[in-house]
Amino acid sequence: MICPKRLAELININLGGLKQKEPAWEIGVSKIAGRGVFATRNIKCGEVIFKDDPLLIGPTLRNETPLNTCSVCYSLMDPKKFLCKNGCGLPLCENCSRRKQHKAECTLFKTWEPLEPQTPNILVIRLITVARAMLFNANQKALLYAMQANIDTTFRNEVKNASACFKNFPTDKKIVEYLHRTVAILNTNSYEVNSSKQSDFPLRALYPLAGILNHECVPNTTYTFDEKNYTIILKAAKDIKEGQEITISYTKLLWSNLMRQLFLKMTKQFSCKCQRCSDPTEGGALLSALYCKSDDCQGLVVPETTTTLQPQWVCLECKKKYQHGVMSKTQDFALGAINAKLNGNSVKAIIDFINEKCPTFVPECNHIVVEAKYNVISRMMKCKEDFKFQDYEAKKRYCEELLGILDKLKVGVNAMRTYLEQEKLR
Ligand SMILES: [Zn+2]
Ligand SMILES: [Zn+2]
Ligand SMILES: [Zn+2]
Ligand SMILES: [Zn+2]
Repeated sequence: MICPKRLAELININLGGLKQKEPAWEIGVSKIAGRGVFATRNIKCGEVIFKDDPLLIGPTLRNETPLNTCSVCYSLMDPKKFLCKNGCGLPLCENCSRRKQHKAECTLFKTWEPLEPQTPNILVIRLITVARAMLFNANQKALLYAMQANIDTTFRNEVKNASACFKNFPTDKKIVEYLHRTVAILNTNSYEVNSSKQSDFPLRALYPLAGILNHECVPNTTYTFDEKNYTIILKAAKDIKEGQEITISYTKLLWSNLMRQLFLKMTKQFSCKCQRCSDPTEGGALLSALYCKSDDCQGLVVPETTTTLQPQWVCLECKKKYQHGVMSKTQDFALGAINAKLNGNSVKAIIDFINEKCPTFVPECNHIVVEAKYNVISRMMKCKEDFKFQDYEAKKRYCEELLGILDKLKVGVNAMRTYLEQEKLR
């Protein structure tokens, strides 16, 4: 492992103009996992702790993302003609064809000789994020290698599959291993950022300093992105004491204990042991809760422990116990029913479903219902449906309910709270 002093040096080089005179943080050894970031003095709620620029950023590209998005500035282009005229196989707008960044990337891809440079290929375009690491200088390479890389069974596929689309892809073991490791580092540490030019174009970005932050299910910070250059801005969501570890959440805040554990295990190979995770009721928010199956009981059933992914469940009312398989079937049914409704239906239809149908099969505190409500709130302002007074009343009520959950979870003043408070008044 790289020594903390050298790591701090490299991070400062990457920070450039964002480097602080007297930072309120330092890198140290964490009780949560490996390295962590710690407060060097008391930090007040709302204070900006640091800003960090991406070391590496590029398209995520899933099957549904439009390929006609410039690989440099991410603006949407004519869907018929959008690939670089010089035959590198990358989407490129007129403006960016003159930029130094593309010239270097164009030369790199052309030496690899794409087999069909005039046919848009998702594997080739997706590879640009990883290939950008080939153009790094020595300091950038050292910083990249200082980042953690979890090795799973799939990380070699990205480069392997893309390499088949080139005639002259590098075969040198060192280069191929460097590319594989870059994928593993991206999979382990990257943040998802939306392109400011096109709100539904997802980018993956590596932040050397923010990437060191460890996870807590109720973190003491919150972050936003500067839309212009994708700088991440980390703020304190609570008062943080000198010496305390500074944390973020790798999962969605409203997910239940089990859902978060499953996600962390699968993507980060990490089991969280934070305070929220060791409380089956999550401060009374009851995000896991399902109805008791006893005829004469109105109680709620929650996982008894949180240390296993297949816990026994218990009714808080009649104390009856249930096997995990039984409750997970009920949970999967609710998830399927609600997701089916969320896709392709009007917001009004979703509101009716949440208010009338959902309570018949899943408690309203369950995280699937809670997330569906959040979905309604964020979709309502963007769509052009004709809403009635009662729809706005429902939205306001959802905002209040979700704010109540944030209170129970004791999340402090985070971006979600600020957003819900604004939406409640609109
Ligand atoms: Zn462009
Ligand atoms: Zn090109
Ligand atoms: Zn946790
Ligand atoms: Zn019961």
